[in-house]
Amino acid sequence: MKIILASSNQGKINEYKSLMEEFEVYAFSELLTPFEIIENGDSFKKNAFIKAREVYRALKNRSAIVMSDDSGISVNILDGKPGIHSARYAGVKATSKENLDKLVRTLKNRDIKRTPAYYSAAIAIVCEKGEFCTHGWMHGDVIDDKRGNNGFGYDSIFIPEGFKQTLGELDDSVKKEISHRFKALELSKILLNRLKKGRNE
Ligand code: IMP
Repeated sequence: MKIILASSNQGKINEYKSLMEEFEVYAFSELLTPFEIIENGDSFKKNAFIKAREVYRALKNRSAIVMSDDSGISVNILDGKPGIHSARYAGVKATSKENLDKLVRTLKNRDIKRTPAYYSAAIAIVCEKGEFCTHGWMHGDVIDDKRGNNGFGYDSIFIPEGFKQTLGELDDSVKKEISHRFKALELSKILLNRLKKGRNE
């Protein structure tokens, strides 16, 4: 079964392709000329639906199954920031590195060496059978120093609960089993498998 991902974030696309080997996964940019999607919802769920609905409409194919993920990191002591603004924490056109550097700077300015934080992911699925959403979280701490090059985004400063290293230092196979994305996807796969079964009958 073909799944179209409504994302242009290469880090996410790579993770989805490796987490969904039993499906045929395409980034929407492989099928359409990429276009900008304004994510102006006030929750991960709303933004995930904005992306999935726009790509579903643009594909003009009723039988397409479109999936999107809106995700981010929330730091408790910063009142949950950057949260839904994780991709534009340092400005609308900011790069991942600029966003990460801003978070590191914010922690350093407040003399915070290590503090609790969590990643959230909302996955939206839009298809002719309806619209669905699942969620996943990963708890841990952020530190004021970048360590390791694995993963993407804020991974080099995030230490998951139960580990000593950052996601930047841990092997990708570890993140694959504990991440917010993995947890939301496990639930989404239940939905996708039911859709798949419905199609074969
Ligand atoms: P979105 O593409 O609008 O959902 O933005 C998500 C942003 O949250 C990304 O650009 C990253 O900065 C951050 N983010 C989400 N998930 C992860 C992750 O698994 N690792 C690191 N950063 C993440």
